Amino acid sequence: MISEEEARNRILEAVSPTPERTVPLSGALGCFSARSVVAGLSLPAFDNSAMDGYAIVASSSKKGARLQVIGEQPAGVDRQLRISPGDAVRIFTGAPIPAGADAVVMQEDATREGGEIVVNVDVHPGEFIRRRGCDLAEGQKILGRGERIRTTTIALLASQGFADVTVGGQVNAAIVSTGDEVVTPGSKLDQGQIYDSNSALLQALVQHCGASVKSAEHCPDHRERLIQAIQRGIKSHILVITGGVSVGEHDLVQAVLRALGAKIDIWRVAIKPGKPFLFGEASGCAVFGLPGNPVSAFVTFLQFVHPAILKMMGANNLNLPKASARLTADLANEGDRPHYVRGRIENGTFVPVGRQESHALFGLSQSNALLRIAVGESLRAGEIVDVQTWD
Ligand code: AMP
Ligand code: MG
Repeated sequence: MISEEEARNRILEAVSPTPERTVPLSGALGCFSARSVVAGLSLPAFDNSAMDGYAIVASSSKKGARLQVIGEQPAGVDRQLRISPGDAVRIFTGAPIPAGADAVVMQEDATREGGEIVVNVDVHPGEFIRRRGCDLAEGQKILGRGERIRTTTIALLASQGFADVTVGGQVNAAIVSTGDEVVTPGSKLDQGQIYDSNSALLQALVQHCGASVKSAEHCPDHRERLIQAIQRGIKSHILVITGGVSVGEHDLVQAVLRALGAKIDIWRVAIKPGKPFLFGEASGCAVFGLPGNPVSAFVTFLQFVHPAILKMMGANNLNLPKASARLTADLANEGDRPHYVRGRIENGTFVPVGRQESHALFGLSQSNALLRIAVGESLRAGEIVDVQTWD
């Protein structure tokens, strides 16, 4: 049995980023930038009006001032207008500020009288002008290499005129769930059978990482069929098998992988839940064997598969998001493995939820954070703890 840290290090050493590619912005959400990107355009790119109103010279626009409207400046064209004290230019939101103007009075604060306006407020220099570069300067870094592309990153890239972006490679995953007792949802359940929740869970987790599920199949604990399923699965970049990695007579995964010439690098990790975790390599495919118990499958996916997928996708930060919260109960780990306790972050507190057993899927479904308690560690209610989140 090896430590979690060693397991993670070995896995991350064994996997490599897949080849980068250039994708349209519409396909970039959740990918990782393969380049550091700097702004080629300032934001705003030119001084422009924040309001519909009148561009004016502030020093000539005290409350009650009467100004001559000398022209109109709509958004989208630059009419190259120039104003002097005593003048006003009708202007609209986003329109370039005429030369000589140093403020905009909004239309609600001016009264139009034919070719003139009367200003109803004191106007100060700079008011309602969005200055060139005040949001973002040309040359400023807007995206780091390995950074996740989020919805707002896409908007920022588009604002710079980029139609596409170079990102880390695609990662394809195959999923094989095993077990004679396991039945695909949608079919009839006989006595003693259970529905296959792990396959659905793992597909969702893979997608949540930003990788693609190439195939997902269920396989009974049958040597020949498992050989075939694994042979199909290792055509993907990663294969995630669930169930059958333990030591019972029906746990065939390890033997079948060996028979197929796979190199088993890790089997059994000091982690609770999830001890019978397996990692190996077969025909260039990274093979993960996760325990069948749903919570064990979930926890080992997050600790070991998630960082591997992120590395393959070109991410620079392979960690799960973290949050600090006030613990609501005393917790201690008297066992011999670090324990991941499932709980909910609610209003700054971490509340353990549900049965802390590896089959307890309902409790897991109510949780949104994991608290790792090291071997021998005792935590007291009221303490601030760091927890991992995933949603
Ligand atoms: P195993 O790792 O195959 O020994 O399975 C451990 C436990 O997880 C058993 O109670 C199985 O019934 C359960 N289990 C195995 N595979 C799945 C699955 N795909 N979905 C839900 N539970 C499973
Ligand atoms: Mg089984």
